[in-house]
Amino acid sequence: MDWLKRIRPSGPASTNSNRSSAVPEGLWKKCPKCAAPLYRPELERNQDVCPKCGHHMRIGARRRLDIFLDEQGREEIGADIVAIDRLRFKDVKKYKDRLTDAQKKTGEKDA
Ligand SMILES: [Zn+2]
Repeated sequence: MDWLKRIRPSGPASTNSNRSSAVPEGLWKKCPKCAAPLYRPELERNQDVCPKCGHHMRIGARRRLDIFLDEQGREEIGADIVAIDRLRFKDVKKYKDRLTDAQKKTGEKDA
C-alpha cells in the first residue's frame, strides 16, 4: 500500500476542503498554468513541459544540464569552487547569508 500513500499522502478517507491543493505530492505535480495533474515520470519524459498546455516548468541547473548534455563524455569542472564574500557586502541582508541560503536551497556551492 506504499504506492497509495505516495499518491494520496493523507490516506483515501481524508477530505480536502481546498480543491486546488488536492493534487497529491510525490508522483504527481500540478501544472501551475492549466492546473492539470501531471504524472511526474511522464512530465520528465516530456522534458518538464506540460503536455496539456505547453507550460515550461521551473527546473534546476542540474536538470537543465541533464536535458541539454549527453551523459557520456561530459565532465564537470570547478565543482569545488565556492563563492566567497570578499567585500563583506550587506544590503537588507548580508551577502554571506544570501550565499548560505542559496547553497542550502539548491544543494550547489555556486551558480
Ligand atoms: Zn499545463
